[in-house]
Amino acid sequence: MRKSVLFMLVLLSSACFSRVWAWGAADTQVEPYCVYTPEGHRMDVKNLCCISAIEGYRWIVVYSPHPDDETLGLGATINYYKRMGFKIMVVLLTHGEKSVSREILCDTYGFCFSEKEFGLFRVEEFKAAVMTLGAYYVIYDYGDQNLKEEIVQKIILYYDKRLDVAYHFVPAIEKWYNLDHAVTALALENVHVRGNKAQFGIYAFYYTVNIHGGIIFHTDAEDVIAKRDALYQYRYWNPAKRRYAIGYLTFPELWDLLYSKCEFEIILIIIDENPSLRSSIT
Ligand SMILES: [Zn+2]
Repeated sequence: MRKSVLFMLVLLSSACFSRVWAWGAADTQVEPYCVYTPEGHRMDVKNLCCISAIEGYRWIVVYSPHPDDETLGLGATINYYKRMGFKIMVVLLTHGEKSVSREILCDTYGFCFSEKEFGLFRVEEFKAAVMTLGAYYVIYDYGDQNLKEEIVQKIILYYDKRLDVAYHFVPAIEKWYNLDHAVTALALENVHVRGNKAQFGIYAFYYTVNIHGGIIFHTDAEDVIAKRDALYQYRYWNPAKRRYAIGYLTFPELWDLLYSKCEFEIILIIIDENPSLRSSIT
């Protein structure tokens, strides 16, 4: 029994290796150095497809342009899907080093950092939050306000090929707010994937609840608790541990609002076969 399981593992791992080999340069360009497990352990990225195949998991992949987008917009939804038996992968695209909170930290609190250092502190907040949500994660560094649709498309295709993806989630298109969000949203819209496409709205709370024709996802109490626990990692202030509440300092009013209203989130699931639904995104 033991032997046959081992044999299957060997077979699968060699299959993974050949698939990676066959996919060529476009994939290696966006191949991460490693994937982190929900416990924060590094895992060889080549093992990802093997685990997926053996266990038969379906995945929710969340593309987060900056640290905190995933938790602000989708923390409860992530917890919901986790409870429903899905595996979650959060793909961080930039370190968010251009955030205005770098200046706030320096001018108001006297903690002055280079963009690079500051970005790494934001990544630490991200890791803590995503581990709280119990998700796998990957960290890229394509430069805040410098995301290119072509690269994001390659990244989306990379995970679409390796994982059995149920939904790819990107932020809603908010052209007026943040270029990286719009680029990420358009990248998913313009690429063909096997999984379904979905958007989430972070800033909708300020305006109208029903943006983008989205559906309101009412969360259960346990999803709310999970989201609040994860949000807390972005509010955690402890300079001795290099934690500076950067997520919170970026936009405190929004944070306070979301914290008090995190019993619902706004998401829109887009099925490729349903063009009428897609055209409702404005
Ligand atoms: Zn963002």
